[in-house]
Amino acid sequence: MTAVRLAGVSCIFDAGGKPVRAVDGVDLAIERGEFFTLLGPSGSGKTTCLRMIGGFQLPTAGRIEIEGEDVSLRPPFQRPVNTVFQDYALFPHMTIAENVAYALMVRGVDKATRTRRANELLELVRLPGVGARRPAQLSGGQRQRVALARALIGEPKVLLLDEPLGALDLKLREQMQGELKRLQRQLGITFVFVTHDQHEALSMSDRIGIFNQGRLEQVATPAELYGRPRTRFVAEFVGSANVLHGELARRHAGADAVMIRPELVTLGPPEGARASGPLAEAQYFGAFWRLSVDVAGGERLMADVPVARLPEAPAPGSPVHLHWADAAVHVIQDTPA
Ligand code: ADP
Ligand code: MG
Repeated sequence: MTAVRLAGVSCIFDAGGKPVRAVDGVDLAIERGEFFTLLGPSGSGKTTCLRMIGGFQLPTAGRIEIEGEDVSLRPPFQRPVNTVFQDYALFPHMTIAENVAYALMVRGVDKATRTRRANELLELVRLPGVGARRPAQLSGGQRQRVALARALIGEPKVLLLDEPLGALDLKLREQMQGELKRLQRQLGITFVFVTHDQHEALSMSDRIGIFNQGRLEQVATPAELYGRPRTRFVAEFVGSANVLHGELARRHAGADAVMIRPELVTLGPPEGARASGPLAEAQYFGAFWRLSVDVAGGERLMADVPVARLPEAPAPGSPVHLHWADAAVHVIQDTPA
């Protein structure tokens, strides 16, 4: 069963007389219960896409279905979805419990039921006992959980999340990634999650849609996206990639452009090396060295070598011989980066 379907959806803004194709002919089917992520650089159309699903922005063209119903022209409150915004948008003058129960109050649910449900939701997001406080008395991570509880209390079929962890520091962010994933599994709700962070997308999602300039460039599982990117843009946006052209590409794969992940490139002897050249740069990443090597043909290739295997990097200018297996070479479409 499809939870969210977009068919030929576009959104064109007028930016001072010049049209901006924020979302450009997107076709997409998100399955029920999926953790689906829209991933792409800033300005690629993710938020606009999410706002159209939520009903905050009407499409210029195309059709949007939620749970099989055409909702293209329905206002937000008539769609079985709710949204968690990056800035949480809590009401500062209300208590936490009142914030969480807001949707029930609007619907005229009695106070006893509201309080009980608000407490249940606060338990669910692991924030019991804060109902009487105000938003200003909570930390950023706690406010994020409150926003989540508030969005879930109306039992939406689909939860839309626009960079919900963007304001948190790294440690808290990683903790909340796990929490969000746990909640999504526990509740079985369809999540449509927006982020520009590839690690977040890869570690949390069932499937990911990659946005580039308003278009969906590829929709796939994290492993497919990483291992078998369709285009150069996807290869370089998700993880680091060596993209080979021309001579080298043709020699190794009989194609115009191929990708090899840096962690699949190893150092070895001159004999049997796929490419050789002087070391241009060595960057230390804690767990590995990233060696950049200038190989024949004017290309610069990266090899990520575990520190356990290479405690010290060679000096810049040293000759380096790069090896990789045939299976490491993946043919891509060479779109402009
Ligand atoms: P993302 O969320 O991926 O950063 P957005 O969906 O916010 O991208 O924006 C996509 C493009 O649409 C950008 O070029 C942005 O400047 C433009 N845009 C977004 N909202 C509006 C608006 N209300 N009016 C005009 N242009 C907009
Ligand atoms: Mg955005």
